[in-house]
Amino acid sequence: MQATLGQTIQCQGTGLHSGKPVMVHLVPTGPDTGIQFQRLDVMNSPAFRLTYDCIISSPLATVASSPLTPGLTVATMEHLMAALHACEVDNLLIQLDGPELPILDGGSRTFLSLIEAAGRSHLNVPRRTIEVLRPVHAEGRNGSHASLLPGRPEELDLSLTIDFPAPAIGKQSFQMTLSRRGFERDIAPCRTFVNHQDITMLQAQGLALGGTLENALVIQHDRVLNPDGLRFDNECVRHKMLDAIGDLYCSGFKLSGRFEGHKTGHALNNQLLHALFASPENWRFSDGSPPVIPSSG
Ligand SMILES: [Zn+2]
Repeated sequence: MQATLGQTIQCQGTGLHSGKPVMVHLVPTGPDTGIQFQRLDVMNSPAFRLTYDCIISSPLATVASSPLTPGLTVATMEHLMAALHACEVDNLLIQLDGPELPILDGGSRTFLSLIEAAGRSHLNVPRRTIEVLRPVHAEGRNGSHASLLPGRPEELDLSLTIDFPAPAIGKQSFQMTLSRRGFERDIAPCRTFVNHQDITMLQAQGLALGGTLENALVIQHDRVLNPDGLRFDNECVRHKMLDAIGDLYCSGFKLSGRFEGHKTGHALNNQLLHALFASPENWRFSDGSPPVIPSSG
């Protein structure tokens, strides 16, 4: 059955890129309404439903552009989307009073606690899962690539490898089957990361202004500058998997199949969804309903 939250819950934090305070309200909604966003700081801007085709290309964060209000965007939603994917929350209105979701712990731990505190409420309508029927691929720059392949019913199996020049990261790999418990233990604590040498350049471009050693791993060549070090030897690839779990939920539907990625990023993950939805022969809904993704209006 589909689920939403048991009650409205809110939290306040800082945008990773904007550095500005932002308040987020997670509001329960009815069946078949999907994940919706609404900017409370922009007068009369209606809520819009998140779909894969309202994601605009951005290397550092996943950004959705409202099809209803020209120029209105919501950024850095991927860590919340990952928590909603793992917890199987199908329907939710996310209201925020700024352009960017808060970075909080740098992973998905705080969002998981919020979902836990609000509780999940089951709706009396069956969940529609997207099942991958045919392999699809996407390729990015610098040898990055990703695939979605048919897999086990109702399961999302993920495997990912990364390869960074900084010796403190280097080559890492991780694989898992998505489950709430596995996500909470192995993925949610893993923080976003940045090269120390890039910080000045990012901040000169008005990015990463809310980054701190509390919400991001800072890598300097062969060292991790955070005083308490890494939470896992391969924390970076686990965070990239967190991002993929969130990005793959931007269709608004739980996915079943196999995801395989190498050096993936937000733009490539979204390219992969475009490849999947390019043909109705690539996928189907688990309940046999017509393969049409609801529009974001
Ligand atoms: Zn991330």
